Amino acid sequence: MYQMWAEHDPAVEQPSLLWHVITKDDHGRSLCGRLLAAPSVSGGDSVLAESFCGPCMTSVREAMGQPAAG
Ligand SMILES: [Zn+2]
Repeated sequence: MYQMWAEHDPAVEQPSLLWHVITKDDHGRSLCGRLLAAPSVSGGDSVLAESFCGPCMTSVREAMGQPAAG
């Protein structure tokens, strides 16, 4: 089971969200290996841009495309 997890993207100055993917099994750690703290984003935050973490998306795509073996 995958969950989306947003953090403020440190690479950009404007208020921006970067979405990572975490799994329930490995809570708190994203697929790209980042340790993510508690969500720092609430629904009321004004965000100018959103983007998705490339490594996380790649991991999900590979996991979906592979048969559940081993
Ligand atoms: Zn990520």
